Amino acid sequence: PSSYANMKDKSDRATNEQVLDPRTRIILFKMIGRGLIQEVNGCVSTGKEANVYHALTPESTHLALKIYKTSILVFKDRDRYVSGEYRFRRGYNRKNPRKMVRLWAEKELRNLRRLRAAGIPCPEPLEVRENVLVMSFLGDREGWASPRLKDAKIEDQSIYASLYTELIFNIRKLFHQCKLVHADLSEYNILYHDSHLYIIDVSQSVEHDHPSAFDFLRNDIKNVEDFFSKMGVNCLGLRRSFEFIVKENLDHTNGTSDEDVFKKLLSTPEEPSRNDSTEAAVGQSAHEDAVFKKSFIPRTLGDLFDPERDIAALSLDGLERPIYANTIELVQPTSSGPAGADSVRADVSGESQVSLSDDGS
Ligand code: ADP
Ligand code: MG
Repeated sequence: PSSYANMKDKSDRATNEQVLDPRTRIILFKMIGRGLIQEVNGCVSTGKEANVYHALTPESTHLALKIYKTSILVFKDRDRYVSGEYRFRRGYNRKNPRKMVRLWAEKELRNLRRLRAAGIPCPEPLEVRENVLVMSFLGDREGWASPRLKDAKIEDQSIYASLYTELIFNIRKLFHQCKLVHADLSEYNILYHDSHLYIIDVSQSVEHDHPSAFDFLRNDIKNVEDFFSKMGVNCLGLRRSFEFIVKENLDHTNGTSDEDVFKKLLSTPEEPSRNDSTEAAVGQSAHEDAVFKKSFIPRTLGDLFDPERDIAALSLDGLERPIYANTIELVQPTSSGPAGADSVRADVSGESQVSLSDDGS
């Protein structure tokens, strides 16, 4: 099985070596020289944008090396994540793939740090050197990588329900504490490790005030809802989980905890005004989710009054007018007044600004 870390098959190694360009090899040799790693073994995963390798430290600790590919073609479709991203307003150089890839690797490291700081399970980022990200290895003592959620063999159905709850709370944390939206979250980018869900692959994650943040978030949540529904878990449904995740202050009547609010929601049928859980009600909520999926969610007050986007929404959906899902409730108030998209962005990204903007080399 090619996904296992400690595979030492010769032909596989040969292809792995082809992927590593001379400069990347030098980076690895330097890491060996510094005693950070002792050897790089098999490839855990080959992807479109990066390969992940298993490595060992001199103390035989397992590490994961995510090595980003430096071909320019690979990163073309990443534009939509980058446009509108404050951290990339300078230093994003389309003509210099090495530099661009380095920014992606750095971004992944910084995002992982934010997750760790918020206590969200993820690999511990150790360092980044150009296109090589070094992080802790999620796997067992022998160096077998933990499975993706998609491939995890979880026997007990009830485990899925608690994993679902855990994940919804972590997406909420990711949004409010890390101020990030994963933007590629699914059972493929979550590892089932030590009985918990570890979030990985956060290089494309965007600031929560990115113009498309809510579109990405809705898509992330849809993947989660779809997966856990498929596993037989009683889920909130796209619209309600989105609201639960985004809402700044959950409604704690009688001082109950967030967990209580969540449990109460789960045990309530989707339509609070309906007491019947008939097929009609289910059909209705499914319909509402479908509408919600298509609706444009404005991210800032500025977005609200963007006529071009309104018209685009109009023609896309063939509707008489664009649908705004809970517009006012979801727009976070800012201290800088209305339509302050730029100032909001400056507020939350201050930390990133310092170290990424003076991108000298
Ligand atoms: P890609 O951009 O190729 O999707 P990912 O970050 O998702 O990159 O990593 C690809 C695969 O490598 C994952 O699905 C997982 O199986 C494995 N992987 C990534 N990081 C780790 C890690 N820290 N420990 C163990 N396996 C990992
Ligand atoms: Mg991935």
